[in-house]
Amino acid sequence: MSSAYNVSLAAPTYSETYRNISDAYIHLSMLERLWAAWYAYMQNDVIATGLMTFVIHEVFYFGRCIPWFIIDYIPYFHKYKIQQGKVNNLKEQWQCTSAVLLSHVTVELPQIWLFHPICAYFGMSHDVPFPSFLTMFYQISLFFCLEDSWHYWNHRLLHYGPFYKYIHKQHHLYSSPFGLAAEYASPIEVMILGLGTIGSPILWCALTKNLHIFTVYIWVVLRLFQAVDAHSGYEFPWSLHHFLPFWAGSDHHDDHHRYFMGNYSSSFRWWDFLLDTEAGPKAKAERITRQKGKAEKSAAVSKKVD
Ligand SMILES: [Zn+2]
Ligand SMILES: [Zn+2]
Repeated sequence: MSSAYNVSLAAPTYSETYRNISDAYIHLSMLERLWAAWYAYMQNDVIATGLMTFVIHEVFYFGRCIPWFIIDYIPYFHKYKIQQGKVNNLKEQWQCTSAVLLSHVTVELPQIWLFHPICAYFGMSHDVPFPSFLTMFYQISLFFCLEDSWHYWNHRLLHYGPFYKYIHKQHHLYSSPFGLAAEYASPIEVMILGLGTIGSPILWCALTKNLHIFTVYIWVVLRLFQAVDAHSGYEFPWSLHHFLPFWAGSDHHDDHHRYFMGNYSSSFRWWDFLLDTEAGPKAKAERITRQKGKAEKSAAVSKKVD
């Protein structure tokens, strides 16, 4: 069922449109009816997708930051703060929030209006019903892997001399990060690293023609949660990486902000592990031991040859 088809069910108000859709398509879930009614009511797919994308981004980004903001004021949680004693005061957090908001409105909002035309060009669907859970699960898992790889190499590049100085330095203003700092970055960085988040599903859709905008929204929300949580500054015994050892989590990215180098990945630990770019004094000590071992081994081999 396409949104163009639903236009005949559109009514002057959104709730009337929703009722018409519900009466006509009783097999749809409530979420699918809300979705179909939105496109039918708006009667303009570009504005419907653009507005929904912007609202989802704002609600889930700032919504996810609120719990992290609150627990700063609850003494019980202080023992879980990674960098003990570091406090991000209200003024600092407000400056960060206003800069992020400004960037959302001036940099991201204009680009969001291109989202629907790009989706339509690559054949992304916005019809109902939505894809199955299994389809969304494997596609989102793939996007996590693709984005993580893109993020690792581009983030590592952003730590190179002039790229760091003119682009990435802004994101490293906070050596002890907090949730709201996740998207505190220069517009160029937002575009470079954001391409991993938006480009991965677009590439998949271009190759397979099998992707729904709803799946992209779920992916973007999960990626936002990952980014905000990674900057939270808190590490718990119940944090995800204790159960999924390859998941990066907050301690991984917190060390990146603390030591300014290493741990370049976003969601997973495997790139930094395989390429020996793990951050922190423990990883550095292990690296030195490994290098020493290698040097001793090669010296012993050359002695034998002599
Ligand atoms: Zn960095
Ligand atoms: Zn960061």
